[in-house]
Amino acid sequence: MNKVELTVAELLVDAAGRIGGDSPRLDAELLLSAVLDRSATWFRTWPERVVATDDIVAFERLVQQRVAGHPIAHLLGHQGFWSLSLNVSQHTLIPRPDTECLVEAALELPLPQDARVLDLGTGTGAIALALASERGGWTIMATDAVDDAVTLARDNARHLGLPVKVEKSHWFRDLTPERFDLIVSNPPYIAANDRHLGEGDVRFEPSSALVSGADGLDAIREITTQAPDWLVPGAWLMLEHGFDQGKAVRALFDKSGFDTVETRRDYGGNDRFTVGRWQAD
Ligand code: GLN
Repeated sequence: MNKVELTVAELLVDAAGRIGGDSPRLDAELLLSAVLDRSATWFRTWPERVVATDDIVAFERLVQQRVAGHPIAHLLGHQGFWSLSLNVSQHTLIPRPDTECLVEAALELPLPQDARVLDLGTGTGAIALALASERGGWTIMATDAVDDAVTLARDNARHLGLPVKVEKSHWFRDLTPERFDLIVSNPPYIAANDRHLGEGDVRFEPSSALVSGADGLDAIREITTQAPDWLVPGAWLMLEHGFDQGKAVRALFDKSGFDTVETRRDYGGNDRFTVGRWQAD
């Protein structure tokens, strides 16, 4: 490449113009931050700084991948969730802010200080690790059916220094029988023929983390059917689902005999997860 003299400001304007989408300037700043190891504040303080050719080449490679639709989290290798920075890979769902609502609600449940908690299909470990970061007294186990996800969740637990035990299991199938005070999950819940699968980040995420049968409810059916065998009396089950699945998911909780079944909303005001209590007395 010939020597090019481009400043921080010029690079950012050019990249943002090509990236498009909801947050082109932010995306450009995040990618340049990763290359230069500088903050957005630094860019604003030094817009006229000339960027080295090698860095321009590295930045351009990332911008082109972003223009092709690759999720920003995959390009950076990490994603913020709750107060944590989680490593991500193409083998799991990228943690979403909506799932933080579920964490918040779990922390508000009247649970014992030494609660035993299970996160099914943990992916990066997001829910389990967020709970562990807030509740030192809880014993938290997380599972995933995918080897690469188990490895990633374990790595995240290790680098964050959080005591979450990660086991390989397809929902409850491969677990040693045990009973929990709370079971949480953000399972796959998109219907196989959903048009939404052709747009945005989901194109680059594994279908095992997204799709669950013809109506999107296969995983939720399996979990709600089996959960009673894994819960102590008075325990809670909390499952994330699609904005239009609240009624169907409540019916599945009811069918399994859960009490006080309630659907709650996410930050966007959409139905996002359902909570039920097992044998409340
Ligand atoms: N909320 C995600 C989406 O619609 C789907 C997550 C999931 O299937 N668990 O992009």
